Amino acid sequence: MYNKDNIEHLSNMFDMLGDANRLLIVVNLLEGKRSVSEIVNLVGMSQSAVSHQLRILKDANILKREKVGKAVFYSIADNHVETIVKNGLVHMQHGE
Ligand SMILES: [Zn+2]
Repeated sequence: MYNKDNIEHLSNMFDMLGDANRLLIVVNLLEGKRSVSEIVNLVGMSQSAVSHQLRILKDANILKREKVGKAVFYSIADNHVETIVKNGLVHMQHGE
């Protein structure tokens, strides 16, 4: 379970989540899937910046992508990712 590859992959995942803009996108998906244009409105970044980050997050298996007609939706890949991010946010609140 704790082999070198797993640790390296997890380290890469934290690197991907370590960018505040990407993390903001992931946090905005905690409540469920959103279309690209909804995400653009939620995070207040340009469409091209959001698309760029969404591609990176999908390639890192943090988000999954789903096409319905012409609309593209993104959601959090699974409940493990969701738990990591949710617990991280709760952890930030103890000190406040
Ligand atoms: Zn804590």
